[in-house]
Amino acid sequence: MPDRPLRLLIVGAHPDDADYAAGGTAALYRAHGHVVRMVSLTNGDAGHHERPGPELAKRRLAEATAAGAIIGADYELFDNHDGELLPTLENRAQVIRLIRSFDPDLVLTHRPNDYHPDHRYTSQLVQDAAYMVTVPAVVPGVRHLAKNPVIAYLPDNFQKPCPLEPAIAVDVSPVLDKIVSMLCCHVSQFFEWLPFNFGVLHEVPAGEAQRRGWLQELLCARLRQQAERFRKLLLRQYGGERGSRIEYAEAFEGCEYGSPLDAAARKRLFEFVPYAER
Ligand SMILES: [Zn+2]
Repeated sequence: MPDRPLRLLIVGAHPDDADYAAGGTAALYRAHGHVVRMVSLTNGDAGHHERPGPELAKRRLAEATAAGAIIGADYELFDNHDGELLPTLENRAQVIRLIRSFDPDLVLTHRPNDYHPDHRYTSQLVQDAAYMVTVPAVVPGVRHLAKNPVIAYLPDNFQKPCPLEPAIAVDVSPVLDKIVSMLCCHVSQFFEWLPFNFGVLHEVPAGEAQRRGWLQELLCARLRQQAERFRKLLLRQYGGERGSRIEYAEAFEGCEYGSPLDAAARKRLFEFVPYAER
């Protein structure tokens, strides 16, 4: 065990991105006594077909707070408009302050090429902040970090300019229930806006237990696909017996602008991955 709890910071663009993409790893961090903060760089106020605006931002803050509470993590929303995030100097300073004040061991964020402009600029902002967090003269109001944290990218299926090349894959099967519970908190998203946006609003079941089951199936399909896609890595890390049986996985690619996600970092940051040092 490390001498102090590890600190995981997940920076997403919207108030559900962090738990959607890395909820399992966040739950495992908490289960091992580590500290997790999930952050959304926007307030989510555009994520609804019927009720966008300030009321939605309030609703999403409540939903995100509830999701964080499932695993005992803070969920912070920055008050930037959804759909309008830009990689400005002002926003860069905001992200530098965030990373410095939380002092994370590991930062997870979107990859720079992604369908959503807010995701792209969130990634850009974290990359822009990466080295700058160590420069005392930049944003001098908050003390600089002596060392750059490890930064890694959240998993996605985009293929161009290059598909995800994960340095680590995590078996999240033991915490599947926690991920489902977290996502169920985002009622405005997973049971209203996203089904509407995908044209499947009529498929959302009415009862609470039924819609949880419906969402769990969608989640399982995605996490199963990730386990299959990164099976080789799972086999290498968990050994043949467990690695071949892992059903649900998350995977992360190192960002070159943070401290490297090398063998030593993998061993330190992913203690629940048995052979991560290899
Ligand atoms: Zn998003």
